[in-house]
Amino acid sequence: MTGSTGSGPAGCGSSGHSAGFVEVAAGVHVRRYPVLDVNSTLVVGEGEALLVDTLSTDAQAHELAAAVRAVTPYPWVVVNTHHHFDHCFGNAVLAAGGRPVWGHEATAALLAERPEALRRRWYEEWVATDPELAAGLAEVRVVPPDHTVRTTATLTVGGRTVILRHLGRGHTAGDLVVHVPDADLLIAGDLVEQSGPPSFEDAFPLEWPETLAAMGHLLGPDSVVVPGHGAVVGRNFVRQQHAELTALAWRIRDGHADGAPAEAVAAGAPFGPQAALTAVRRGYAELAGATR
Ligand SMILES: [Zn+2]
Repeated sequence: MTGSTGSGPAGCGSSGHSAGFVEVAAGVHVRRYPVLDVNSTLVVGEGEALLVDTLSTDAQAHELAAAVRAVTPYPWVVVNTHHHFDHCFGNAVLAAGGRPVWGHEATAALLAERPEALRRRWYEEWVATDPELAAGLAEVRVVPPDHTVRTTATLTVGGRTVILRHLGRGHTAGDLVVHVPDADLLIAGDLVEQSGPPSFEDAFPLEWPETLAAMGHLLGPDSVVVPGHGAVVGRNFVRQQHAELTALAWRIRDGHADGAPAEAVAAGAPFGPQAALTAVRRGYAELAGATR
């Protein structure tokens, strides 16, 4: 998630004004949705497709289904990159009719164990700034992934190989990346953010750099990387974000060792004081647990 909301048609049904999919690599299409600037990605094979991330509400998901149908007549399987609402609350609509939903086992557990708490948390987070989005979130039937991944799963989608990988914890406990080798493309979820700073509310800021380093091993000079939010990027952008996350992680370790207040550590940190403060608090909690 990002901390800002766009001006798109949240929760107001099929307005027909939102953007369609854009092909960013051979047979791989990205739709950048104005509300939260979140990406959904469609991989199209021969007679079958795969849809990564399903947006926030039933209304948004119906729009997304129509956008998919404008690209391909084929049936699709669903993948969720993680458990945040803007990536999986459209599952009930987009997986209707028994379509498989893939996700990391931690993502499936988080969604299965406390759907009501998650709905309430995000409703309360958004009700003041985007009441339409909040109302839509409150009505969602949460559908967890029914096909889970621990480290790797290799799918064949209409003849194309698509590899789902958990490279370690970072943005959440259950981040999954989707690798499409024949297109030299990787869908990163919110492990990589282009349109705003990374989001740390459920993050593991001390582990995130290692996870991005592992991602870097999958990327070549011409690789296309689809971030969770914002414009498509490349390997250099991922390297830059890795460097900033590494600097932040060391700042957190040093601050913890020195007994520095979280606010002081966050001031002047990468990604700005607000995002960094959340990261420092998460990192401090992790270090306190590790030393107990
Ligand atoms: Zn997220």
